[in-house]
Amino acid sequence: APYQRVDLRQLLDSTLTMLKRKIGENVEVVTDYGELPEVPVYAAELNQVWTNLIVNALYAMRGKGTLTIRTERENDHALVEIADTGGGIPEDDLQRIFTPFFTTKPVGEGTGLGLDISWRIVVDRHHGDIRVESQPGDTRFQVLLPLTEPPA
Ligand code: ADP
Ligand code: MG
Repeated sequence: APYQRVDLRQLLDSTLTMLKRKIGENVEVVTDYGELPEVPVYAAELNQVWTNLIVNALYAMRGKGTLTIRTERENDHALVEIADTGGGIPEDDLQRIFTPFFTTKPVGEGTGLGLDISWRIVVDRHHGDIRVESQPGDTRFQVLLPLTEPPA
């Protein structure tokens, strides 16, 4: 599909609606949406990124905690941050989480492909970036997307 100019906040809201049942009653969802221009993106692919990051956050919180989704403009990029209050990512794992098939989940619960695919969609496809900061109780994935058109 060709790229489209979209309001990322609408994409995020539709992903949240789709995941409503999985989010459940004991996870509070906080959205903190700052001003953003429309961003030219491959929308269907980016929906997969939001889904992967949110499902990981929910898993880390074991059904209970706060999921915070924040947007802001950072110079010539749009920034989307997905944060959770789960147990966090050990320092030693941080270098490996984007590697295909790296998972800490029991067999059958994780393929270890979600972050690999997300990296390819954000970095390779959109020339953006993904940053991670994690400590116990506060894990943040930041997705940066250029405001300029993605490569064809
Ligand atoms: P999977 O979810 O199938 O394990 P991913 O590529 O989505 O594969 O994630 C790889 C690993 O990164 C997870 O198994 C987990 O160890 C770690 N991880 C990713 N997101 C989080 C998070 N929000 N909190 C804690 N650990 C995370
Ligand atoms: Mg995953």
